Amino acid sequence: MAKPVFRFAPSPTGYLHIGNARTALWNALMARKSGGTFLLRFDDTDTERSRQEFADGILEDLAWLGIPPDRIERQSDRAARYAAVLEDFKARGLVYPAYETAEELDRKRKRQQARGLPPVYDRAALALTDADRAKLEAEGRQPHWRFRLSGQTVRWQDGVRGECHIETASLSDPILARAEGQVLYTFASVIDDADFGITHVLRGEDHVANTAVQIELFQALGAAGAWANEVDAGSREAHATTIRLPAFAHHNLIASATGEEMSKRTGALSLRSFRAEGVDPLAVAIVATLTGTSEAIRPLEGLDALADLLDLSKFSRALTKFDPAEITDLSVKLLHAKPFAALQESLAHLGISGPKAEAFWAAIHGNVSRLEEVREWWSLLIEPQNFAVAETDFLSECAGLLPAEPFGVETWSQWVGAIQAKTGRKGKALFMPLRLALTGREQGPELKAVLPLLGRAEALARLVPAQRL
Ligand code: GLU
Repeated sequence: MAKPVFRFAPSPTGYLHIGNARTALWNALMARKSGGTFLLRFDDTDTERSRQEFADGILEDLAWLGIPPDRIERQSDRAARYAAVLEDFKARGLVYPAYETAEELDRKRKRQQARGLPPVYDRAALALTDADRAKLEAEGRQPHWRFRLSGQTVRWQDGVRGECHIETASLSDPILARAEGQVLYTFASVIDDADFGITHVLRGEDHVANTAVQIELFQALGAAGAWANEVDAGSREAHATTIRLPAFAHHNLIASATGEEMSKRTGALSLRSFRAEGVDPLAVAIVATLTGTSEAIRPLEGLDALADLLDLSKFSRALTKFDPAEITDLSVKLLHAKPFAALQESLAHLGISGPKAEAFWAAIHGNVSRLEEVREWWSLLIEPQNFAVAETDFLSECAGLLPAEPFGVETWSQWVGAIQAKTGRKGKALFMPLRLALTGREQGPELKAVLPLLGRAEALARLVPAQRL
């Protein structure tokens, strides 16, 4: 059997949001676990709204998530191929010219709706005679091209939804190409899926109705022997036989519980907004992938562990809400659980390295919610500091009781024991002046871990700043 080829096909008209990430991740990780290919296709036939800056941004976001594509294709590179298939369809009478303007179509739809009818194209263009067409063209109208649906029932076995069927009689004949020649998504998508040997079309359930149309288009392509025009050598083999429909699966959609609309246009809940907040991309990946499935959202080791959990049968069928705060919470949990070795490089980028780095991470990891916050603790605990101190008498007394080096995990309790015995202080009255003097903060890592990081000389200098050399 040919190797699986999955694809993610965004239009570069904005930055990816969590909903897009869900589709991208499912495709990339299903490809990964099946040893297949993850293809990124830019659906950029809408030249007015598509922008290079967004295409670049999408690639960056996928790399950030850890799922860079194995192969990239752009619909804008394939206009000649689409035009050739359109000509073939015209020659075989599979498409027909129609001349209605957008306003005329809109009026028709409104009239149908007013009469309680579904707003399906009435195929008026099919009744035009050669003379009618000549007249319309003489008036300056150029035709757009509609694909003639069979009007029959299209059935497929959906990977998520099971047995599906749609009467194409209930759908409008889709426009494949506009008057000015621009081809539309559904047509380009089917030609691409066929040419690139896509074996699995896994996308949001907002595309279920498209699937019936697309299956009829696949059949039209196959019957045309259109594979003979194959432009992609890599997938020639896959198309050696007549027609190979990809397996279709439509996942449920997710929505923000806070009512925020996910929008490529406004950038709401975009991957880059999470990136800017310093969120761990794995947290985004886990929430985007597992929300609305039977798997609980929880910390996982990495994308391979996430891929292991994926199975189309785990999707729930309903729209599922998620709270964006789940992503930040999970990101914090993941950070707290990270072993030093996994972070060594990122910490070094923040200037945190050397013999104290590992003990430092062990001491403060529970006190940060973003990696960047580590830098401040490094400066507080590792670099010399002159914090203002109150209770100088008490602190001088404590300084006099500080055990000798080497400092270890026991040093703190020995010291506290000595202070208690000598001063009679305990609880907050004892700890808070020490914490403030040693760390400059009311809250932070355990002082028993702080002492060995500071070392005796720095600890003394912080307790009695006047004596700092
Ligand atoms: N460009 C389409 C979209 O963004 C692709 C849909 C598909 O996967 O076929 O919705």
